[in-house]
Amino acid sequence: MSKIKTSMVFIMILVLVVPSFSQKRVKDLKFHHMQEYCWMRLAKIVPEITDRVILPIGTVEAHGAVAIGADNIIPNNLAEMVWEKCNALIAPSINHGFTGQSISQFPGSITVREEIFEEYIYDVLKDLVRTGFRNILIIVGHGGNTEPTKRAMTRLHVETGAHFMTVEWWKIAFNVVNEVYGAKAQQPGHGDLEEAALVMSSNPEFVDKEMYEKLGKENVGAAGADEGVALMPIWATTRYPEKGLGYLNFDIEKAKEYTRKKADSIANTFLEAVKRWEMMERWK
Ligand SMILES: [Zn+2]
Repeated sequence: MSKIKTSMVFIMILVLVVPSFSQKRVKDLKFHHMQEYCWMRLAKIVPEITDRVILPIGTVEAHGAVAIGADNIIPNNLAEMVWEKCNALIAPSINHGFTGQSISQFPGSITVREEIFEEYIYDVLKDLVRTGFRNILIIVGHGGNTEPTKRAMTRLHVETGAHFMTVEWWKIAFNVVNEVYGAKAQQPGHGDLEEAALVMSSNPEFVDKEMYEKLGKENVGAAGADEGVALMPIWATTRYPEKGLGYLNFDIEKAKEYTRKKADSIANTFLEAVKRWEMMERWK
């Protein structure tokens, strides 16, 4: 066999035997949390195996009988449920956010000022982009974080061209509460049926049933006051969407089904966004 023929056969064997690095997916890797790799390994993974990352962001604040970390537990749990389908790594979460003043006075609540939070998020996202991530899914666990996060991601898109999707679990797939609980679909409250379901699906013990029943659902929670009324502090740390609605349900199977449906909706929307962003990139 000639020298050229021999090397061609050798190359063909290599192609057949060694699976291509780029055909691997995140699920084939050792870890799906980026912080568990050394930097040299991470540099091989991003962007060759994936250029997608999930950043869960939340805060610590009073939520009635639900754990004060609800806004962190939920986006972290949702990230765990969607990374494989999204073929994305998970970045270390941001657990301290912009908690509203009227609820930040209760024990355990922690707040970071809004302008500081925006700059902080901006810096974190900037280094994710520098690392090679082009498609970034931000799962928000707390409403106060949304606007500063949207401002930060807009600035970074303009500066770098990277793509971002920010999602609030309580607004996406609005009708899931009706499908699972037969409840009227509307803007959920705070520490109520829907938020408690997402926390319970992570760990049922993170909702203090004993405290909820001992103090009474009408005392632990209340509907919000009418427009034009400001309360300092808020008159209940659980806010029901309206009187008579949003009471906790301790059925774990339903909580898991509710969470699964929310997670699926987040993953499908992100995959659609990435497909469309990449399609439009090719048109440039
Ligand atoms: Zn919350």
